[in-house]
Amino acid sequence: MANDIKEYISRRKQELNAVIMAHYYQNPEIQDIADFVGDSLQLAQQASATPAQVIVSCGVSFMAESAKILNPDKTVLLPAQAGCPMADMVTPAALREKKSQHPGAVVVAYVNSSAAVKAESDICCTSSNAIAVINSIPREKEIIFVPDRNLGRYAAAQTGREMIFWQGYCPVHDIVSPGSVREQMALHPEAQVVVHPECPPEVIALADAVRSTAGILKYIKDSSAQEFIVGTEEGFLHSLRKHCPDKTFYLARSNFVCQEMKMIRLEELALSLEKLQEQIEVAEDIRQKAYRSLQNMLEIK
Ligand code: SF4
Repeated sequence: MANDIKEYISRRKQELNAVIMAHYYQNPEIQDIADFVGDSLQLAQQASATPAQVIVSCGVSFMAESAKILNPDKTVLLPAQAGCPMADMVTPAALREKKSQHPGAVVVAYVNSSAAVKAESDICCTSSNAIAVINSIPREKEIIFVPDRNLGRYAAAQTGREMIFWQGYCPVHDIVSPGSVREQMALHPEAQVVVHPECPPEVIALADAVRSTAGILKYIKDSSAQEFIVGTEEGFLHSLRKHCPDKTFYLARSNFVCQEMKMIRLEELALSLEKLQEQIEVAEDIRQKAYRSLQNMLEIK
């Protein structure tokens, strides 16, 4: 059965000239069948470069929206109605209100935000490039950073910039506690601690390194250490084990799972390819403004 469904996906993908892009937090079976697995920045870069006519975005809605913003003439599919609670913590109306209180401020939107919020922003960032994005903004400018307060605080500390933070957070990373990290450190005293910047500042303070998911993978590949306490979603361990089979990983907390990221299985992917669902649409006026914010980010090296 599993082989049948995989064969179907592969055949249908060719018929449609489709590419399957999966986030590192996806179920292992989706990561294994994807043409490309990456973090938000890598997925956006791939989406802007792909020659495929259909993009199947295996992630959550803001990722599929980003693919559509960058590829308005292509069909973009999201195989499940998966959203991101953090992205929902900022609305365009609330952001407009904040902008009116700080005229002239540059708005930086973490890509974990809706197309409409990106359209209200000046430049996007991901956890991979937030510091470079902040550094690209003239020092005399005020900065409003939405929606993740933890990534915002981390980027502010790294760049020495003051920022106006939004009080959004990732419910999956924000509840990592210093206590659970210390527990793992006591159990595995040789392990390096590598965490995602969506974790709270008290957890970041305990880490040997703070990186995006792609950055964590690179850090671990390059490290001579053998054991790692990993502060990000458990689906990522699948890629870590594939790339570094002789290293050992422990999660920074138990049940480190984003349920939204787990909504796509092979069945949903096959159905999505069969019926061309759910097709992502972004209104053209919003798309053009959001495109400019994403493009401003992609131009930063
Ligand atoms: S892990 Fe957090 S930021 Fe990522 S999709 Fe899930 S809720 Fe959103």
